[in-house]
Amino acid sequence: MIVLDHIEKRFGDNLVLKDVSVEMPEGSVTALVGPSGGGKSTLLRCVNLLEIPTSGTVRIGEEALSFSPGGKTGWPEIQRLRRQTGMVFQNFQLFPHRTAIENVMEGLVTVLKWPAERARARAMELLEKVGMAHKADAWPATLSGGQQQRVAIARALAPSPRVLLCDEPTSALDPELAEEVVDVLGRLAREGTTMMMATHDLRLASRVADKVVFLDGGVVVESGPPAQIFSRPERERTKRFIASLN
Ligand code: ATP
Ligand code: MG
Repeated sequence: MIVLDHIEKRFGDNLVLKDVSVEMPEGSVTALVGPSGGGKSTLLRCVNLLEIPTSGTVRIGEEALSFSPGGKTGWPEIQRLRRQTGMVFQNFQLFPHRTAIENVMEGLVTVLKWPAERARARAMELLEKVGMAHKADAWPATLSGGQQQRVAIARALAPSPRVLLCDEPTSALDPELAEEVVDVLGRLAREGTTMMMATHDLRLASRVADKVVFLDGGVVVESGPPAQIFSRPERERTKRFIASLN
């Protein structure tokens, strides 16, 4: 289970996450939706501790860390939790001077100190999973956005994280290329990959997510299965947001 418990995040005077609690069973997919500035990216970044929560607890499997204002958290603890996560960004962020397979191998070799041969075999397995094995030796600049994102997904999965975090994984892509990425994420979901994604792409959320969390102003307004949130939202705020998208 992955648990975010009473998470608050403050930037100066700006309280951008207010008492956010979310539970994600292993193998489930959670989509964060809501208006711009609602706190989706900040919440994802609190899971992998790219942002340190002001207060609350982040639990990933057996690893848990609690935060409090003014408290100090050691780097080894942060690293231990962060290593349970993998992250995919809107703009792929592949290393431009490494080939596709080298991008996937990078963390295994430099961080986990795997021998190159073993890392290469694991990377190839993942490139196959995302349908990119035929481009293993290609440079990122020669790949389409959808292909780059699929390599980025393989890279994030390489160290076998407990949870894959995706921040707007299809937002930089034309519809056709976004579709490729939705297909890959859908397949990963069916294979039991635990994921949390922030997205404006309702097709992605409705095809892949088990649970949709609607965040507005740093508050979880409503959450539930995609069919409920998108077709039968209960809260006025959610209704207005969904209506604004159509
Ligand atoms: P979008 O849909 O536009 O991606 P979002 O839901 O991901 O929006 P966040 O990026 O999490 O929203 O931003 C939530 C709030 O936190 C915003 O008010 C933003 O200005 C603020 N914020 C985010 N990062 C920082 C930061 N590093 N320093 C100060 N304020 C920040
Ligand atoms: Mg965002």
